[in-house]
Amino acid sequence: MVLARTNDCCLEAFSPSKALRFLYADVSETARRLVAAHGLSAPAARVFGKALAGLGLLGVDVGEDDEVLCFDADLEGPLGGFHLERDGNGHLRGHAFEAAPETLLPSGAAPDDAALCGRAARVKITRVAEDGGAIRSQMSFAVEPATPDIVLTAFFNNAIPTRLSLCATDCDGEPDRVRALAVQRLPGADDKDFARVARLFADGTVADQLEFDATLATMRDVLDLWDLKTGPTRALAFGCSCSAKRVLASFAERPAAQLRALAAAGGPVVFRCHLCGREYKVGPAALATFARRRSARSR
Ligand SMILES: [Zn+2]
Repeated sequence: MVLARTNDCCLEAFSPSKALRFLYADVSETARRLVAAHGLSAPAARVFGKALAGLGLLGVDVGEDDEVLCFDADLEGPLGGFHLERDGNGHLRGHAFEAAPETLLPSGAAPDDAALCGRAARVKITRVAEDGGAIRSQMSFAVEPATPDIVLTAFFNNAIPTRLSLCATDCDGEPDRVRALAVQRLPGADDKDFARVARLFADGTVADQLEFDATLATMRDVLDLWDLKTGPTRALAFGCSCSAKRVLASFAERPAAQLRALAAAGGPVVFRCHLCGREYKVGPAALATFARRRSARSR
């Protein structure tokens, strides 16, 4: 709640008098970057953006400074699923499985979230150590239907009563406001207070507001919580861990026969990072060198 709309961030907020906690995330810039990198259609960008905003909420509670938080969903609908990551520095990346899922719908079907995501989702939330990649914890569950709203509500409700709203608008074909807000009922909260705020989430009031501005002053007003106050803001930003060095290292480990075949083809091999869309070229000379080293090692 806050901030210039060009700053991706997440934070938590509280109403002490009503014992309500809020989680907020703005991932608009990262969504623009990833949607362009992966060439997502507007309907795919909307669902992907909501999932990314949801990852911003998850990251408020889950994940340490030295680990990567992975949010995976396999969807029955034509979007197929998504893989999203947030590392300990607040760097976000990821992709959706289908770039233009609406083309796979029966003709005349509206490309709304429910149609693109389908009947059911299998979800995995994993914490992975940044050095070495050891899995520290993993949680899997299935939900129906499969939209990001339902998936994330299911995750948070498992621990504490939560309502949330995910917003992903577009402007001239690119993501504009990609934000999320959740409310949680803390122990000691009055049922009536939580129910009143939950209604603002259910009737679309919160979603409508997220499309415009989400400053603290506005949210105090919209939620009618005079003592709403925010905790520290944490920066989020697009960022990927891929590099030319890592790509070369992965090629160096391929089987010698495969490397010889790639080198013999003459041109550079293009490697595309599926998380950020960046492309790397590995030339035939490097491929031939890796092939020789692999052969020498296996002798
Ligand atoms: Zn990358």
